[in-house]
Amino acid sequence: MSSDKQTISRAPTEPPRAATPGSGCAEESSVNLAANASKVITGHASSASRMQSTNLVTIGSMVCRICQTNSGQELLISPCHCKGSMAYVHLSCLERWLNQASRCYCELCMYQFNAVQTKRYGLCQGLKMWMRHPRNRAHIQSDLLIALLLTAITVGLVIVCLLGLQYFVIEAQRIGVTKLWTEIILSVFICVVLLGYVVTIYLLVRDQVVPWYTWWRQTVDVRLLLTPSVAKGMRRQLSKETAL
Ligand SMILES: [Zn+2]
Ligand SMILES: [Zn+2]
Repeated sequence: MSSDKQTISRAPTEPPRAATPGSGCAEESSVNLAANASKVITGHASSASRMQSTNLVTIGSMVCRICQTNSGQELLISPCHCKGSMAYVHLSCLERWLNQASRCYCELCMYQFNAVQTKRYGLCQGLKMWMRHPRNRAHIQSDLLIALLLTAITVGLVIVCLLGLQYFVIEAQRIGVTKLWTEIILSVFICVVLLGYVVTIYLLVRDQVVPWYTWWRQTVDVRLLLTPSVAKGMRRQLSKETAL
């Protein structure tokens, strides 16, 4: 951790909920933020209206943009470039939201927060979590079934070609095709079948591994670090509240 940043004391929070495997972020929080996003658009309509809305926000009327409360038990911070009613947020709410969404930037103004990101799951735990999701499990099962059927068909075809070589040679000679040509045609056929099998299995495996790996890499725990300016704002707010 660098010296110009300081970790802030945080209010007790419930443990971060795991992001839904395969979805990338918590949908219920999306709804919350999406509803609030319209307020931001209003806040950014013009510089004049922005100044007006900023002036309207007093210490008493400030509420957290996520939980919509200001109980006074935890200080509100303005950690990004959002203005107006969307400027303030509890640190614990923001961290919980960022953990659910597995990101460390404000999705409204795209401000990149100072944060430490650590992978939420190890490799094996990540695999278990991924397979625990019914949609992923169904996807794996259907792909496994396809792979098994394809393997059975490929093995069957290759065995028939090899065991029936003698028969094919005799039958081909009746219509004037030499033994050499029959062997060449059968060899090419087996190669095409095996190539098709390998390509299909590769595509099936890639179809499973890539989404899992993307989800696993992006599912992180986010721990915010305060920049000196935000920490100063908090101290100012604290002293104002103490004076009141
Ligand atoms: Zn809050
Ligand atoms: Zn923002």
